[in-house]
Amino acid sequence: MIRVGVTGAAGRMGRTVIETAGDREDVTVVFAVDATDEETVAGTPVHEPDDIGALLATHEPDAIVDFSVPKATVAFAEACAAAGVPLVTGTTGFEDDQLDALEGASEDVAVLKAANFARGIQALLSTVHAAAEALPGYDVELTETHHNGKQDAPSGTANTLLDALAEERDFEETYGREGMQPREAGEVGVHVRRAGDVRGEHELMFAGNDEVVTLTHRAEDRGVFAAGAIDAAVWIAGRDPGFYTFGDVIEG
Ligand code: NAD
Repeated sequence: MIRVGVTGAAGRMGRTVIETAGDREDVTVVFAVDATDEETVAGTPVHEPDDIGALLATHEPDAIVDFSVPKATVAFAEACAAAGVPLVTGTTGFEDDQLDALEGASEDVAVLKAANFARGIQALLSTVHAAAEALPGYDVELTETHHNGKQDAPSGTANTLLDALAEERDFEETYGREGMQPREAGEVGVHVRRAGDVRGEHELMFAGNDEVVTLTHRAEDRGVFAAGAIDAAVWIAGRDPGFYTFGDVIEG
């Protein structure tokens, strides 16, 4: 059984991680951290972010599981690097300098960052490569939908899908269209919807040659992300320093 600390614990995802961990036998949550007034989350006491160094030293967890905000994730990564505790983060929306800071921390400790901990997204990524290779010249459009509380747009997963496509072809992204804006050759339209409590939907459309292929993933419960993040924590415990992805976990 591995011992984890959860940061961003009072959020939609952090709470789900604690609840999911409670149902598993391979992990136990030893502390929770959040910038919230809530004193407990799912029965676990919540500590302030400034306490992270002392918590890492006292509890010596095998890993941290983080779903918070980019600035906080960077601070947690630096604390983990100093304490020698691996970090798994699902936070999205990092600026380039924040990504540099995470990579800097990964020189001292194992850091795993994934925009999406659903296993189906890993399968989708492989399919994107296959479709782009088999359908050269087809127009591609990407649409993603998330709940109305999501901060960053487009989603980290949308950017990961675009990165996968960019390995197969050159294109320019166009974010939404308005007014007289016909489609340019070689562009990929990116469309973002925010509504209700949608957990996360991504659709990549390939259209051409009088046919349409759509690759779609829909997360139906936040538990799918929590389970993947906990699997990543189990995988990263005891790993050498380095910057890892969820694909590394799936490949074993
Ligand atoms: P949320 O807003 O519900 O939760 C974020 C939590 O972080 C809040 O409780 C907030 O109080 C806390 N927080 C803010 N500043 C903090 C600080 N300085 N220290 C500690 N905690 C702090 O958001 P959410 O829906 O839980 O999502 C969190 C992140 O995870 C987002 O970036 C989201 O895009 C991402 N996400 C990733 C995946 C994935 O599979 N990788 C899945 C869902 C969401």
